[in-house]
Amino acid sequence: MYEGPEFKHCKVIDPKADAQGKSSNNPLVKCEHCANEFSAGAYRIRGQILGIRGRGGGNCLEAPQDAKDLFQAIENEKAAATSKKRKRDDLDQLTANDGSATAPSTAGSTGPVQIGIKQAFSNSIKADADAAVCRYFYAEGTPFVKIESPYFLDMLQKVALFGAGYRPPPLKRLRTDGIDKEKALLDKDLEVRSASHRTATLEYCACNV
Ligand SMILES: [Zn+2]
Repeated sequence: MYEGPEFKHCKVIDPKADAQGKSSNNPLVKCEHCANEFSAGAYRIRGQILGIRGRGGGNCLEAPQDAKDLFQAIENEKAAATSKKRKRDDLDQLTANDGSATAPSTAGSTGPVQIGIKQAFSNSIKADADAAVCRYFYAEGTPFVKIESPYFLDMLQKVALFGAGYRPPPLKRLRTDGIDKEKALLDKDLEVRSASHRTATLEYCACNV
């Protein structure tokens, strides 16, 4: 305890009391240079040596320059770390907002609501995907109504599930094994559906005779 460089410049007189003898969270210290007594931790000792108003026991007029330089460097480092952390927190908040809340820098302002980085990124990816689908339909002369095909949607969802590295089967496999396998499954599926449809129709007709 009391091991920082600050305590090389201030001696701890009473670890539990302030200058008036009342109990204090900070120890009562005495400056080695100007003999000023005040209660302080490292933060307030730096304030006293650097003469920062309202921080520590007033301005130390006797502090050597090397102590001032050292404490100023510590202050600068802490200010830089705080600023870096604030920027990181702002960015975290901005990405966590997902566009649902105002970015911290505009909090309280009446300006337009900024969307989060994640939301903007996601909007741009969706716009790209939509454009690619439209391009495919137009370039290949695919009937537009096919966009409502459940098989088309199923295909997109399975491709998305696979991820960005998906490559479709090569032409040779598509026109042979790929199609044969799917044709068999699809025919069977349609058979089951039409059988159940036929049963339902027969039941409906029987009930309404
Ligand atoms: Zn002093």
